[in-house]
Amino acid sequence: MSEKTLFQKIIDREIPAPLVYEDDLVAAFNDINPQAPIHVLIVPKKLIPRVGEAVPEDQATLGALLLAAGRIAEKLGIKARDKGFRLVINHGRDAGETVPHLHVHLLAGRSLEWPPG
Ligand code: 5GP
Repeated sequence: MSEKTLFQKIIDREIPAPLVYEDDLVAAFNDINPQAPIHVLIVPKKLIPRVGEAVPEDQATLGALLLAAGRIAEKLGIKARDKGFRLVINHGRDAGETVPHLHVHLLAGRSLEWPPG
């Protein structure tokens, strides 16, 4: 069996990171190097290396990632339209992917520029 990814080790509680959200399909924890006052990583428990490698059987897991984002935003008090949050998924080198385990970045707590860098 291949070595666990960093995020699998966090989900399996082998590397400490308090979970800010968990359900059957996903877990979420704060990014170690936050790019905004709120920077949460939402990660599927199933290893999907990156979003473009998801398969039709992953549909429920992909949906769970976005539903979790809404629940976390509600919990953190950033769901109102006069606050807000941004979701980012990096796929591959040009996007800046560094951990080969699909994750959604939830960024909030400051005004976020558009277009992103
Ligand atoms: P990517 O660049 O692949 O889209 O995002 C990977 C993210 O994982 C980065 O924002 C990085 O700061 C975060 N990260 C890397 N190592 C750790 C770690 O050990 N713990 C946590 N909580 N986040 C990490």
